[in-house]
Amino acid sequence: MLRVSSRTKLAINISIKIIVAMLVASSLMFALLLASYKPVYKVSLDGEELGYATSKSKIQDNVNDYLQDGDSENVGYVLMEEKPTYSLKLAKKEIKTEDESILAKLKDSCDVFYRVYAVEVNGEQVCLADNMELAQSVVDKVMKKQENYTKQATVRVAEKYEQEYEAIAEDDIDVTVASIIKPIKAENDAVVRKNNTYAAAKTVSQEVLTSLLESTKELNFSKPVNGGVITSRYGWRRNGKEYHTGLDYGIGMGTPIYAAEDGVVTCAQWSGNYGYLVKIQHAGNYETRYAHCSKFAVTVGTEVKKGDVIAYVGSTGRSTGPHVHLEIRYEGKHLNPEDFL
Ligand SMILES: [Zn+2]
Repeated sequence: MLRVSSRTKLAINISIKIIVAMLVASSLMFALLLASYKPVYKVSLDGEELGYATSKSKIQDNVNDYLQDGDSENVGYVLMEEKPTYSLKLAKKEIKTEDESILAKLKDSCDVFYRVYAVEVNGEQVCLADNMELAQSVVDKVMKKQENYTKQATVRVAEKYEQEYEAIAEDDIDVTVASIIKPIKAENDAVVRKNNTYAAAKTVSQEVLTSLLESTKELNFSKPVNGGVITSRYGWRRNGKEYHTGLDYGIGMGTPIYAAEDGVVTCAQWSGNYGYLVKIQHAGNYETRYAHCSKFAVTVGTEVKKGDVIAYVGSTGRSTGPHVHLEIRYEGKHLNPEDFL
């Protein structure tokens, strides 16, 4: 059995007392500390101190939600280049924590990309809308306007992501469409002019012409358009000063114009007040003329059958709206088309 001297016992007793006293003292100090200090998170971003936060997890959850969905409807995605750092500190009780403003600063540091809808003409962006329907309605209107163009542009909606953008408003549609169609129309007009120059430059075979003039084939002229309304008849105009040498059918721009009878095209070119004019030579020295066309479907020398498309309705030359002016001539002299139709 171990024998412990009374001296040793005393030493142990004293040591225990000291330890207990120290424990009590440090607990007291800790309690004192907690009474005037609190644990906080110092939040920093890219070396810059943003402030003190009470809850790291609350801020981080909010940031994660923001990165997921942003906070407006057409957010495509959100990027955060630098991640925030958090360090736990004991700070004086009265120190201000500012979780809300830290969160706002963190959101502010993100790059937000919005989902927008671009209208593209031949692959080039011409305007942006923040919803698909608006962009599509611009495309539909432009397509409708270029419906009868020889040279049509490729117009479509493309989804894009932009940080900053200027979107068109519902009220701007017509102005936007007008500005989009302008260069498309200019290009179309240039192509039509080129085609028309080509149509005029061809020649007609003398042989065909001679055989037509000598032919005794019976003619039976038909209307040059399907539908339409007679907007001006052959004869003296109401003003009594002008003689109208043909019959006008008002009908939509771009409507096909048909050959009234078999024959050969002797003219497909610009002709002053007639605008773009097609002349067809028929059997027995009859001729028909189709004026104010927007474009030609034949060239000089084309042999046509009754009902073939020869041109399209326009408003070129001296004209106040889309119509076709039909003339029927015999030996060069104009006659009333209504006597033949
Ligand atoms: Zn006329």
